[in-house]
Amino acid sequence: MTLKIRENAEIWFLTGSQSLYGEETLKTVAEQSQEVFKTLSANLDVPVKIVWKPVLLTPETIRRAMLDASSDENCLGVITWMHTFSPAKMWIAGLSALQKPLLHLNTQANSQLPWATLDMDFMNLNQAAHGDREYGHITARLDVPRKVVVGHVSETKTAKRIGDWIRATIGWDTAQHLKLARFGDNMRFVAVTDGDKTSAQMRFGMSIEAYGINALADAINKVTPQEIDQLVTEYQDLYAVAPELSKGGERHESLRYAASIEAALHTFLKAGEFSAFTTNFEDLGALRQLPGLAVQRMMEKGYGFGGEGDWKTSALLRIIKSMGTGLAGGTSFMEDYTYHFGPGEPKVLGAHMLEVCSTISDEKPTVEIHPLGIGDREDPVRMVFTATPGEGRVVSLMDMGNRFRMVTNDIEVVAPDEPLQKLPVARAIWKPAPSLATSAESWIYAGGSHHTVLTKSVSHDTLVDFANIADVELLHIGAKTTTESILHEIRWNQISYSR
Ligand code: MN
Repeated sequence: MTLKIRENAEIWFLTGSQSLYGEETLKTVAEQSQEVFKTLSANLDVPVKIVWKPVLLTPETIRRAMLDASSDENCLGVITWMHTFSPAKMWIAGLSALQKPLLHLNTQANSQLPWATLDMDFMNLNQAAHGDREYGHITARLDVPRKVVVGHVSETKTAKRIGDWIRATIGWDTAQHLKLARFGDNMRFVAVTDGDKTSAQMRFGMSIEAYGINALADAINKVTPQEIDQLVTEYQDLYAVAPELSKGGERHESLRYAASIEAALHTFLKAGEFSAFTTNFEDLGALRQLPGLAVQRMMEKGYGFGGEGDWKTSALLRIIKSMGTGLAGGTSFMEDYTYHFGPGEPKVLGAHMLEVCSTISDEKPTVEIHPLGIGDREDPVRMVFTATPGEGRVVSLMDMGNRFRMVTNDIEVVAPDEPLQKLPVARAIWKPAPSLATSAESWIYAGGSHHTVLTKSVSHDTLVDFANIADVELLHIGAKTTTESILHEIRWNQISYSR
C-alpha cells in the first residue's frame, strides 16, 4: 500500500467584491468568477480539488470565510481574487485570522479587451487591475505570507504557477501532520544530521519520535512465514532477483530475512501512523542485516528515510514525495558520494551504503547480496539500479542553530560515462548547475548537508513556495549562481533571518 496524501484535500477559491455595485452586477461577478474557477480547475494538474465559494462582500463574511478555511482540516490553502474593487480594510480581520497558505491571483474574466465596443459598463465590471492592487497593499502591509500570480487562467504558465503552489500546500499539510520514527539516535560525532527537534516541530509541525532498534527486532520475530512468502513472490514479480537469493538459491534465507525486516517495518510504521523513519548502522541491536531492501521498499511506497539517524532529510523526503504525488520522475534519499572531475564534463556520483529509492529509475532493479564493511552484521540484501537521466534537483535541510536553512541545486541526471559493473549499490550520476566547482563551492559555503533529497518530479517553484509558506530560508544554486552571488545572499540572509 502506497502512502497517500490527504484524501479530501481542497483549495478554496475566494472572490472579493463589494455591495456597492448592486445586485445585477454582482450576479455577473459571481458568474464570471465561476467561469474563471472552472477554467483554472480544468487546467490544473494537481491531486487536490478546487472549491468555489460565494463572492465575499463584507468584512464579516470575509473573516468568517478565513476562519472556516483555517479550521477546516481538508482545506490546504486559499486562492483570493478581487474580481472588482473590494476595499482592503474589509480584509484586515480576515487576513489576520487566516492560518492557511494564501495565493493572491490577479486575473480577469476576459483575456482580450473588446477594443471596438469597450465602454464604461465593461470598465466597471473588469476592475481587477486596480482591485487586486488595493488588496495587494494590505497583504503587503500586514506582511501576510503569500504567493502572487498574475495572468489569465487559460494560459498554461498561469495554471502551472498556481499548480506549483498547490503542491507546496500539500507539502505543508504533510509537514504539519508528519510523524517520524527514529530507530536509535543519529550517528556519533556527525554534526549535520543533528538538530533541534522541538524547533522542527514549532517550524514545520513534524513530530520526531525515538524508538529503540529492538522495537523493530521484536517486530521481526512476529512476522509470519506467510507474510514473508508474499513479499518474496512480490520481489520475484517486480525485480530481477539474483539466482543465489531466489527460491532454491543457496542464499535465499537472506532474502527471507530482508523480507521479514520489510514486513515488520511496514507494520510498525502503519501502526504508529508514521510516514518517515531513520536507522543508524551504529545501533542495529538484534538485527541480523542492516536494513537495505526494506528501506528501499518503504521509500518506493512514499515513506521518508534518512540514513545515520538523519531525521531532517527523512522528513524532507516524505514532504517532497507528497508534493510530487502523481508526477513522473521520482524522488529519493541521496548522498553526494564521489566526484568525476574529468576527462569530459565533471559529474557527481550519488549513492548511499544501500538506501536509494527506485522511483528515480525506469530500469527493472536487480536484487543482490554483497558484503558491507559497515554495520558488523550479515551481508545485506539491496536493490541495484542506475537513475534515469532527466532534469531535477538535490535539496537539503539544515539546522543552523538559530533557524532552519534549505539549499537546493538544479541538476541534470545523466548516464554513467561507462558501465558500472562492480558497483554493488543503486546510484545516480548528475551534472550540477552551473558547474561542479561552483555548485560544490556554493553548497559548502551554505553549509549544505551531504545527505539530500534528489527529486526529478517536484519543481523548483514548488520548493520556493514551500519554503515561503514555512518561512524558512532557501538558497538556490542554479545556472545563474556564482560563488560571489551566493556569498552575498548568505550574508544578507544572516541578517534577514536572525529576527
Ligand atoms: Mn550517509
